Amino acid sequence: MDQWYARIAVIVASIALIAIRAPHGQRSRAVPTKTNARGALENALLALAMIAFFLPLVWVASSQPTAANYTLHPAAFWSGALVLVASLWLFARSHDDLGTNWSITLEVREAHQLVTSGVYRTLRHPMYTALLLYSLGFALVLPNWIAGPAYLVSMLLLVGFRLGPEERLMHAEFGPAYEDYTRRSKRLIPGFW
Ligand code: SAH
Repeated sequence: MDQWYARIAVIVASIALIAIRAPHGQRSRAVPTKTNARGALENALLALAMIAFFLPLVWVASSQPTAANYTLHPAAFWSGALVLVASLWLFARSHDDLGTNWSITLEVREAHQLVTSGVYRTLRHPMYTALLLYSLGFALVLPNWIAGPAYLVSMLLLVGFRLGPEERLMHAEFGPAYEDYTRRSKRLIPGFW
């Protein structure tokens, strides 16, 4: 299958992800931070995620690293494209539901509200589910053993190390209300975990 399919999918998905996040980022940054639980590990994982986000775009522009390229299979491409569409839908929904009660990192804002409705009714971390699906989509559509799975690896690390501290932060902030919410919801996979 022609590698141009992969290039177009990577460009469209990257622009969509940035376009969905940008207005929310701007709005929530305007709300002052009350508690910051961001440590050295979180900073390192965020930096890694930023680098991994741009590797697919480097591949689009240059086909680098060329030694890791392989032939794109139509089944991988189309299933990846479907996963990307689903992930972007969930990414937009979770941003809409969180509103300004959101930060790119481990922070609580002034007048932070606990959100338990919309996609948050079922899942406590739908935005992370969306980002894991999005990065899985890239691993499927991008025929390069390094640029393809790079974002998935960085997201698995980020989410893996962040879930515990984030839930502790939410628990410290919202106490019994968050405990109650954890009993009613799953972390990342509806009905499962
Ligand atoms: N883990 C969530 C949110 C990611 S953004 C998700 O994957 O959908 C990270 C920030 O969102 C955290 O620092 C915390 O301040 C905030 N947050 C997480 N869950 C929240 C909730 N249910 N209600 C309000 N804010 C929440």
